This record gives sequence, structure tokens and C-alpha cells, in this order.
Amino acid sequence: MNIHEYQAKELLARFGVPVPAGHAAMSVEEAVAAAEKLPGPLYVVKAQIHAGGRGKGKFKELGPDAKGGVRLARSLDEVRAAAQEMLGNTLVTVQTGPAGKQVNRLYVTDGADIAREYYLALLVDRKTGRIAFVVSTEGGMSIEDVAHETPEKIHSFTIDPATGFQPHHGRAVAHALGLTGDLNKQAQKVSKQLYEAFLGTDASQIEINPLAETEQGQLLVLDAKVGFDSNAMFRHPDLEALRDESEEDPMEREAAKYDLAYIKLDGNIGCMVNGAGLAMATMDIIKLNGAFPANFCDVGGGASKEKVTAAFKIILSDPAVKGILVNIFGGIMRCDIIAEGIVAAARETELAVPLVVRLEGTNVAEGKAILADSGLAIVPADDLGDAARKIVAEVKEAA
Ligand code: GDP
Ligand code: MG
Repeated sequence: MNIHEYQAKELLARFGVPVPAGHAAMSVEEAVAAAEKLPGPLYVVKAQIHAGGRGKGKFKELGPDAKGGVRLARSLDEVRAAAQEMLGNTLVTVQTGPAGKQVNRLYVTDGADIAREYYLALLVDRKTGRIAFVVSTEGGMSIEDVAHETPEKIHSFTIDPATGFQPHHGRAVAHALGLTGDLNKQAQKVSKQLYEAFLGTDASQIEINPLAETEQGQLLVLDAKVGFDSNAMFRHPDLEALRDESEEDPMEREAAKYDLAYIKLDGNIGCMVNGAGLAMATMDIIKLNGAFPANFCDVGGGASKEKVTAAFKIILSDPAVKGILVNIFGGIMRCDIIAEGIVAAARETELAVPLVVRLEGTNVAEGKAILADSGLAIVPADDLGDAARKIVAEVKEAA
């Protein structure tokens, strides 16, 4: 789960991280009122969308010569003009895709005099399963470009969870940034605060780009991208409240309501499965038979009839889906319950695409009988290979 920059900065500030003063605004008037509360004379008006590259982004409605989603303003009038241009318009950045994202919120901050820009990120290193620091002197630009062109300028190390963050880790960050004296001390402190924020919020990433050194010799977090481990959100109801649903994929959001894992893919066969391993195997075998999955929807171990129905509706709401393969192993969940869910869902959605069902496990005979007696055109399958061949054939025939 991702949050906006202004939320990230408010959160990091609670851990002592130095951020510029600022206020969120949903309207032009609020933006001006926000600026009035700041000391001036320099303000920054920033589009709040869940995507980076805003500064270099372009507004669809404003043409190629207009400024991007991060604007420096030197008076309240300039703040007002920037807010008027941005709110309600669509910002396209390297991270939004060509459709862009509508700007509904702004963040008005106290402008900093930047001397240098650095890069500092914390993430989970999958290879070691540890929290990693990624540090570079090349801040303010795309880290992907730095990695591509000058990889030697990116330094990275991981933290042993048994010891946690140690003073030498802070020194390593400060050294990698080439900082001396008081700035070196500030970098050590910020590193520790960011590590504590990462652990304390069950974050999956904290990316500071740029971490700015001001003309006054202060390190300041000017941009922050924070994401959390969705599986840990139940431990953080306060963070859950930061969710901005308008930024999320509507189908994935609907799926999350029912605790379903839904991933959209490029093909035309919808897949309802239980368990990630079975999902992978199902997708592989569809491909082996010459077709491509349109998605996978994992109903998990303890799915109810309601959950199965919701999964069906979500899969069918994708117009690319030309057939559905249900591949479920009834272990904890009984096959007859699943079958009831499938029949109810097929009726409720007036299913018009071919449906192949492979059930195995507890009460499989009862489950199959429910499907057969339903009067619906459900194609039963005996095993995974059989199921894949059947759905691929059905979809080809219908096309
Ligand atoms: P992003 O483009 O989405 O990554 O948004 P950022 O918040 O990183 O802003 C982009 C760039 O705007 C930064 O790299 C800075 O160069 C500039 N910028 C952001 N805040 C300030 C500020 O307070 N003062 C000045 N002078 N420039 C800023
Ligand atoms: Mg940035």
C-alpha cells in the first residue's frame, strides 16, 4: 500500500526526520491558505499523486510548454496560479503510464535553498531477506538512470536483523554521501530515524529523492515515497486510514475488500484458484496449451460462497476475459461449498463465457454433483492438464 508524499512526510516527521513545513490542500483557496501559514518567500506547490517524476511531468490539458507537477512560487499569487493550473488536471509522468493521473490534492511546502541533492532509500532486499540501504550522491534524478549509466555511484548494504541499526551503518551512509563535519552527523541521525520509521511502520520501501543539503547546511527530506507491506496493515489501523482509494486499481481494490489476491494480466482466460502455487501452475499450463491468462484471482484457503461470487464478478468485469478456468483444491475449504459458490455466481452474473471447473479434495464427489445438477453449461475437468486443454479449446472455438 502506498501513500502520498505529504502523508509520508508527516509520518517521517514523527520519527524526527527533518522535513520542510507544509500543508495539504484540496482546493485553490486551501492552497493559498496553506501558503499563508508558511514563512515564505519561497513556496513549493506539489501535485499529490502516487507516482514519481512529477517535476518533469506534463499536464495533458496544458500543452508541452507548461510547467510540471512541482512548482516553485515566490508569492501567494504564484501559489494561487500554480494551484489553479494543477488541480483537476491530468499529470503524466514516467511512472503514471500514458493515461496519467488526475491531481486532486496539492501539498504546499516551505521552499528550501538547495545546495546539493542526494538519494537515500530503504527497501527489503529479497536475496538476503534484510532491510537494505541504497545510497547515492546523485539525487534529484531518476535512480534507474543512475543505475544504468553510473552504477558505481550507488552504494548499498543490508542490516542484520539480529543487531539492528548500528552506529557504523549511519557512518557508512554519511561516508557514501561524501559528507563531513556536521552534515556527516546529520546523515547518521537521519539514517537511524529512517530505519526506525521503516521497522515501526512495517514499510516495504522508503525512498528519499532528493535528500537535500540546504545552503544553510541542513539536511532536509524534500521528497518521500513510502510504501507499506499490505500483509502487515492489520497491525496499523492508523496507516490504513491514509489509503487514498482514488489512486488504486478499482478491480484490485474490490478484490482487497473480499481479501482476494487479484492480478491483472494480458491474456483472455480468467483464472480462479486457491493458493499462489496453484495459481502459478495454472498459468503455466494455460501457456503450455497455447493461450494466456487474463488474470489470476486467488481466493485463498478459507473462501466462502460470498468470496467465490465476488471473485467471479471481478474476473468477469474484465472485458478481455473470454473464458474462465476454476482450479481449486478443497483442503480446508470443501469442494461442495466451492461448487455452490460457483453455481450461485454463474447464475447471478448470467455467465456468458465458457467455464471449466477442476475440483479436487474434500467432498469432491458432492461438489461435482452440485455442478452437474445445476443445469448450467459448466465443463467439468478431471485434472489440471485436462482443465487447461478444455478451456483453451472452448475459448478458441468461441472466438
Ligand atoms: P518528483 O519530481 O516527483 O520526484 O518530485 P520532487 O519532490 O522530488 O521534486 C522534484 C524537484 O523539484 C527536486 O529534485 C528539486 O530539484 C525541486 N524541488 C523540490 N522541492 C524544492 C524546494 O523546496 N526548493 C527548491 N529550490 N527546489 C525544490
Ligand atoms: Mg523526487
